[in-house]
Amino acid sequence: MDKIDSIDYISRIKNLKRQKNAIILSHYYQTGDVQDIADFVGDSLALSQKAASNDADIIVFAGVKFMAETAKILSPEKKVLLPDINAGCTLADSCRAEDFSRFIGENPGRTVITYVNTNVDIKVLSDIICTSSNAVQIVESLPENEKIIFAPDRNLGNYILNKTGRDIVIWDGSCHIHEEFSLEAILELKKTYPDAKIIVHPECKLPVRMIADFIGSTSALLQYTKSDKSNRYIVGTERGIIHQMRKANPSKDYIPAPPKDSTCGCSECSFMKLITIEKIYKCLMEENPEIIIDKDTVAKARKPIIRMMEISEKLGF
Ligand code: SF4
Repeated sequence: MDKIDSIDYISRIKNLKRQKNAIILSHYYQTGDVQDIADFVGDSLALSQKAASNDADIIVFAGVKFMAETAKILSPEKKVLLPDINAGCTLADSCRAEDFSRFIGENPGRTVITYVNTNVDIKVLSDIICTSSNAVQIVESLPENEKIIFAPDRNLGNYILNKTGRDIVIWDGSCHIHEEFSLEAILELKKTYPDAKIIVHPECKLPVRMIADFIGSTSALLQYTKSDKSNRYIVGTERGIIHQMRKANPSKDYIPAPPKDSTCGCSECSFMKLITIEKIYKCLMEENPEIIIDKDTVAKARKPIIRMMEISEKLGF
């Protein structure tokens, strides 16, 4: 590829989008420049809905593989591109289909609810998909005596269990970003900034959730900082979301929650950060790497996602 500066990449991406009737969807955990070039920025639920409802021929997914797969499942007739095919997810990879099939077999008669952060072969094994925005409400929408399996995030599963009191068996997976936030380091930071509110994602561990002023999905955290009156927040999720928080309220102060090891940069998802402006340009130009899923798998994986969307719509999400 020619050596061109980032301004050229952006104008070339805009031209290619027009020529090819393409849109760029970006997750909140992308870098600021990637979020700014996107047609739509959101969390997993909003991006899934956007993928299903637009009339573009090509979707460039600035996110990780399971998200691009979800877009493909919802829009099989569209070309879905992932600018770096190595953008995986430790949480999704902590739940392998063979092991999960065995787990379902060991816990018969339960409705299988899985978080959208799963690979396509896990979605095929699921009854309903959920996101962190709607997980509690989806569980609550089921009859009270319905027994549930939840996977793959143990912290989100534990959060849902505490909120709903339902009979839930939880898969033992986790996201390394949210697992790494340190209770001690956050409390230490709070001493320096006693006015800061602690806001965290439900994928954080219980001790961190217990000291939080607010717990919510990435969109809910963003919404909270928009409507809340405080001026300072300690943000316990991937730090990419702070870009949108600053755009919405530049005068407020947003401090990334510290991980155990302050030198590791652990509050940045290295998979998300594999996506760059240059890679977006290259993949749009070459229409590669493309997400390919066979028809039969799409049909099977689609059912639990559609069920999530129907329940979400009924609940007004
Ligand atoms: S932040 Fe965690 S759950 Fe999200 S993509 Fe990265 S590893 Fe996966």
